[in-house]
Amino acid sequence: MNDTGKQETTQGLADRVMFHTYGRFPLTLVRGEGCRVWDEEGKEYLDFVGGIAVCALGHSSPVVTRALEDQSRRLVHVSNLYYTQPQTELAALLVENAFADRVFFCNSGAEANEAAIKLARRYAGERFGPDRYTIISMENSFHGRTMATLSATGQAKIQAGYDPLLEGFRFVPFNNLLALEKALDPSVCAVMLEPIQGEGGVIVPDPQYLKRVRDLCDQKEMLLIFDEVQVGMGRTGKLFAHEHFQVTPDIMTLAKALGNGLPIGAMLATEALSPAFGPGSHATTFGGTPLVTAVSKAVLKSLLEDGWIKHAAKMGHYFREGLEALARRCAGIKAVRGLGLIVGVELNTPAAPVVQGCLEKGVLINAPKENVLRFVPPLVVEKGEIDRLIGVLETVLEG
Ligand SMILES: *Cc1c(COP(=O)(O)O)cnc(C)c1O
Repeated sequence: MNDTGKQETTQGLADRVMFHTYGRFPLTLVRGEGCRVWDEEGKEYLDFVGGIAVCALGHSSPVVTRALEDQSRRLVHVSNLYYTQPQTELAALLVENAFADRVFFCNSGAEANEAAIKLARRYAGERFGPDRYTIISMENSFHGRTMATLSATGQAKIQAGYDPLLEGFRFVPFNNLLALEKALDPSVCAVMLEPIQGEGGVIVPDPQYLKRVRDLCDQKEMLLIFDEVQVGMGRTGKLFAHEHFQVTPDIMTLAKALGNGLPIGAMLATEALSPAFGPGSHATTFGGTPLVTAVSKAVLKSLLEDGWIKHAAKMGHYFREGLEALARRCAGIKAVRGLGLIVGVELNTPAAPVVQGCLEKGVLINAPKENVLRFVPPLVVEKGEIDRLIGVLETVLEG
């Protein structure tokens, strides 16, 4: 009850008792299934946000429910003082399917990047001495909201108000090898980038760029860190986005779809880096609990064995063709970008009214940049749902 004696709504209560860190849509969601979610009043929405590239297998996936139920009856948490089976099995499955030999589990994308930054610095320090700590990161990047990861993020709006930032980060434009070469000096220990920039507005680099960065890192003995928090786990039509570019990093971070909504992050690296993270060097209480890793393992197995990654490639292709056809009919669209089921549409006008228009017509999308719409639906999305999205988008853009 509030002062007027009326039952307070969820939104009213939230606005009263929670920090206003999020500019939220006036929507209270109570249930989801596949690519659809429902609000308190029972109104249905087509979900092309998917929890921000998280719910790869969709909402209420039976794969998740089964693993959650089974493991919750067995063992939820014991800390990392002990071995557990689900954590070990998930690590083994990741190693088996990635370039990497070693895994560290944590609870989020930011924490995975924290682990990557710490590992890179510690490795470089042990190998080359204490003056080798600079990490080159990209303008327009996004690596998280902790102090270290926002220091690594090349967006002024995310860093605003948090000075002094962590030292030892230097920024260069993405997809520009010359700028990267110019920024190098003996203090640089690593280059950190997203193979496709997600929050930056779905920016796909030139086909040769990542390979050239890899070559440069090899020449100068710098580590290459790929942040695949958003684009990993099948979203681009391959398990990891870097597989499209025939390059492997030294370190890779994962989170978002890794747990299909349960909080988990992972930092993977090659064997050469393993000694730098010995006992006591890094730790987390919750990271890789049996409950979360049992779910994550079931999710990864389903992605690998049930054909969802190929499906994502196919649906991504279909979606892209539909949007390109729409762009030819519709003057408001400036560019269509993406790979698989991470798709961006750059508009000639602000994106916010389009997002709002779609919401009113029962479709959830979001806008990472002022004039860019982003679509990161569950990987289980079907053609009919893509058709509906494009139909609604056309109506809103022309309205
Ligand atoms: C979302 C995201 C992060 C941060 O993940 P959190 O789980 O929110 O900490 C880091 N990097 C990229 C590329 C992301 O998309």
